[in-house]
Amino acid sequence: MRKLDQKTIVVASHNAGKIREIEDLIGPFGFNASSAAALDFPVPDETGTTFEENAAIKALASAKASGLPALSDDSGLVVDALDGAPGVYTADWAEKPDGSGRDFMMAMEKVEKALEDKGAAADQRTARFVSVLCLAWPDGHTEMFRGEVDGVIVWPPRGSRGFGYDPIFQPEGHERTFGEMEAEEKHGWKPGDAEALSHRARAFKLFVETCLEA
Ligand code: IMP
Repeated sequence: MRKLDQKTIVVASHNAGKIREIEDLIGPFGFNASSAAALDFPVPDETGTTFEENAAIKALASAKASGLPALSDDSGLVVDALDGAPGVYTADWAEKPDGSGRDFMMAMEKVEKALEDKGAAADQRTARFVSVLCLAWPDGHTEMFRGEVDGVIVWPPRGSRGFGYDPIFQPEGHERTFGEMEAEEKHGWKPGDAEALSHRARAFKLFVETCLEA
C-alpha cells in the first residue's frame, strides 16, 4: 500500500455533486485540491465494465495530465430486482435522448418503470449505492477503495438535496431518502467517527485508513 505524502491533489471528476462531496470529505485533511472540471481536462471515456476499471481510467487520466496524485470516484446504483442495473451505467441512464445533457428525474422514472415492469413487490425493491474511489499517481500506481450502502428504492422521489438518484434511495435503518438528508448526515465523516453512512464516505474512510494514517 502506498501512502499519500503530499497535500496537493486533483479530484478527478467533472460531476459537480461528487466534487462537492469529495471536497467536504477531504476538507479536514488540509488538502489543496483542484478538480478535473476546474482544470478543464477532457472527460475520459468510461470504457470499463466494472466500477474499479472506470475509477482507474478517470484517476489515471487526471494524474497523467496534472503530474499530481488524483482521486476519482466511480459510483452507481445497483438494483437487485434489475439484476444489478443500472450499475456502471447509472450516469448513462440519465442521458437525454437528444444528447443535450442529463435528466435525473427521467432516470429515476426509468428505474421505477423497470421495477414495475418486473412486477417487483414492496419487499423486492432492495438496492445499494456503490462507490469505488481510486487514488492514482502519475507513475501509474493505483490504490482502490470500495464503499457500499444498502437501502430500498422508494416512489415517488422525496427531497431535493444531494444529487443524481438521491431522492429515490432510502438507506437501510433510516426513514428519509438521501435527498431529504443534510449533507452532513449523508456523507459527513471525519477521523474518529466510527461509521460513515454514504457509499462515498465509507470508501473515503478506507482511503484515509490506508493512505493517510501512519
Ligand atoms: P459515474 O461514476 O460518473 O459513472 O456516475 C455515477 C452516477 O451514479 C452519477 O451520475 C450519479 O447519478 C449516480 N450516483 C453516484 N453516487 C450518487 C450519490 O451519492 N447520490 C445519487 N446519485 C449518485
